[in-house]
This record gives sequence, C-alpha cells and structure tokens, in this order.
Amino acid sequence: MNNEHQFYLDRCLELAEAAKAAGESAVGSVIVKDGQIIGEGIEQSRQLKDVTRHAEVMAVLDATFKGYQLAGATLYSNVEPCLLCTYVIRHHRIGRVVFSKPCGELGSTNPRFNLLTTNELGPRSNAPEVIIL
Ligand SMILES: [Zn+2]
Repeated sequence: MNNEHQFYLDRCLELAEAAKAAGESAVGSVIVKDGQIIGEGIEQSRQLKDVTRHAEVMAVLDATFKGYQLAGATLYSNVEPCLLCTYVIRHHRIGRVVFSKPCGELGSTNPRFNLLTTNELGPRSNAPEVIIL
C-alpha cells in the first residue's frame, strides 16, 4: 500500500516540476479511483491569473469534466491541500487525501483551521482519511 501511495506521489512530483518550470509554485496533484488515475492537475494560478487554479482544483476539474464521480476516490498532492482546495475535496466527498509536505498556516490539517479533518461540517460530516507520507 505504501508503495502504491509513493507511486502516485511520485507522479505528483513530476507534475510539480512541470508547474515549477512554468513559473508556478511546485504543486502537482492526481486523483485515483479503482486503481487508475482519473484526474491530474498542476498549479496554474499565475498563468491563468486566477488564484483558484491550484493543482488539486485542476485535478478535480480534470476528473469531473471526464464525467467521474469522486466519492471514495483518493486525492494525492505533494503539498498539503489548502483551505480552498479542501472545500472542493469535501464537496466532492473524496474519501482519502495523501500528501507529503505541510503547507503551514493555511494547511487544512492545521489544528486551528482543520477543515480537512473535522467531522463537524454538517452534511459533509465524514472527513476523508488523511495520510501524510
Ligand atoms: Zn489549494
């Protein structure tokens, strides 16, 4: 299982390198369901002049535009999803989030603003499983 997580995290790191080469923050994200990558995203906020174009959001859009339902999927990112991305993750009921690098005060597992891990979000009360590699 850990090898599987590392495989997808390595793909995130490849995507992050592409983002960095394009002058963006080095973040990449993939979404996996039933053992296959259904969405990929790289950070594109600067290129698109849109602060919502985080890698995780782009991965979700990639998957949903293809028609995939994300409930029960796993989202990987090389960086801890921020609060913006966490809203999207929880809206789509993504079942598991795997990341490697904490993102600091805007990180969604920060105990002060634990939007990713709280079970107190009403209709979205089931927090995803979180794995930090
Ligand atoms: Zn984000």
